[in-house]
Amino acid sequence: MNSINQLNFNNRFVQLGEDYFQAKPPVPVNSPRLVAFNSDAAKLIGLDADHVNEKELAEFLSGNQSLPGSAPLAMAYSGHQFGSYNPQLGDGRGLLLGEIKNALGEFWDIYLKGSGQTRFCRGFDGRATFRSSIREYLGQEAMHGLGIPTTRSLALVSTGELIYRQHPEPAGIVTRLARTHIRFGNFEYFFKTNRPELVTRLADHVIEHYFPELVQDKDRYRLMYRRVAESTAGMIAGWQSVGFGHGVMNTDNTTLLGETFDYGPFGFIDRFNPRYICNASDTHGRYAFNQQPEIGRWNLFKFGETLQNLIPIDELQVELDNYTVVFNQKFQGKMATKLGLTIVDAEFEELMNNLFRLLAAHQPDYTNFFRRLAHHRSGGLEELRAPFHQRPEDLDDWLTQYERLLDREDISLEEQSARMTQSNPKFILRNYLAQRAIDLALMEQDYSEIERLMVLLKNPFADPEGVEFSEIDPDLYSADTPDAQLGMQVSCSA
Ligand code: AMP
Ligand code: MG
Repeated sequence: MNSINQLNFNNRFVQLGEDYFQAKPPVPVNSPRLVAFNSDAAKLIGLDADHVNEKELAEFLSGNQSLPGSAPLAMAYSGHQFGSYNPQLGDGRGLLLGEIKNALGEFWDIYLKGSGQTRFCRGFDGRATFRSSIREYLGQEAMHGLGIPTTRSLALVSTGELIYRQHPEPAGIVTRLARTHIRFGNFEYFFKTNRPELVTRLADHVIEHYFPELVQDKDRYRLMYRRVAESTAGMIAGWQSVGFGHGVMNTDNTTLLGETFDYGPFGFIDRFNPRYICNASDTHGRYAFNQQPEIGRWNLFKFGETLQNLIPIDELQVELDNYTVVFNQKFQGKMATKLGLTIVDAEFEELMNNLFRLLAAHQPDYTNFFRRLAHHRSGGLEELRAPFHQRPEDLDDWLTQYERLLDREDISLEEQSARMTQSNPKFILRNYLAQRAIDLALMEQDYSEIERLMVLLKNPFADPEGVEFSEIDPDLYSADTPDAQLGMQVSCSA
């Protein structure tokens, strides 16, 4: 295990040359302070988390000191935002510090978000608010805890500076780890500026470093595209199963390896509503919850366009259709697991369609519905039924169908309950919980709520028994969101 100034950098993206980025160090900040540090993620980059020196980490992870071996750069990319092409995006407020190779031979990008202006900042300040940094820090680890592919949080720093949004606000910097920061938008940038040779070089780079087994294959570009499509399908199937809304599924926020990426106005569904819109700026609901699978396909279509010199159009069409098939398979598989079932057939599909109709009509808390369902045959029926009080027979009808499918499976009641508690979270990052952590941090410089949430979100399926954190009352965090806190939306102003 290494200390922060001994990381094993092995930078690959920088070798593509300056068409692809601006080489640039972070802009120093006034008085950085390490607010949170995630020792689980530290292990991914071979960083010794037992002997952290907070002052030293704050210096390096604010960008005030440069990490030996790093080669900071702002990536050039464009992309489709809310369906319209924006030719000028790029890393306006973040920097890829480099790539770290760990003892297992894995590569991890290390990236500072909120590290000052770059060539791509378009007049904005290059910074991120402390509040949005807290949300991103928690959001990434919440998704990881749920087993959904995502970028990771290494650290959260407050910069000691104020920045201006609607009013002056403190700024923060998140250190993000990711398997790659290459987005669909990196390809769009070269395609739209009519530089097909740079598209090809980027595709070759992706194949060489992320899909090396394809290098010799004559269909390598098509197979690369298939891998990207299938990982995107798996990621979005994960979102749909836990009720996660990303909020800004622009093509510049979608990476090549299907990791949930760029946490802005994201949110988890409280009471089930298929049209849930977590982003207050999304007035037309383009990125509403039930649109996400289709938007994944739309983004892949835009990515596919950039590869038109490398993959024949009819083959791209086949791969896009494959995305939809894979998404449906993965989503059904995940929903079956949530319901404690293994047989996925036409009857199961009907059960699932009926379930979503039932949930949309009665709007119970989505997360807790499944936890309660796990115990409905062992004393939990009343609790399950409470949100259905207007027409409890709707629930009963569905339960009759559900029980018939449970009976087809050769498992005991206990086994089924155990399966369901292992696959239905008790703790999710409810917006109001994140907001409480933010309020305490901003108003009282009290960061303890961030730590408490991290303990629960890393362990979302179980009561934190044996977890050393005596002040946590798990029931406070797993309860349905209070009525007054429902429907909270977050805006893009971050
Ligand atoms: P995002 O909404 O974070 O995905 O950002 C969209 C684009 O706007 C990216 O090119 C960002 O780098 C840029 N951007 C967002 N906020 C800022 C900021 N405060 N300063 C500079 N660029 C920004
Ligand atoms: Mg972005």
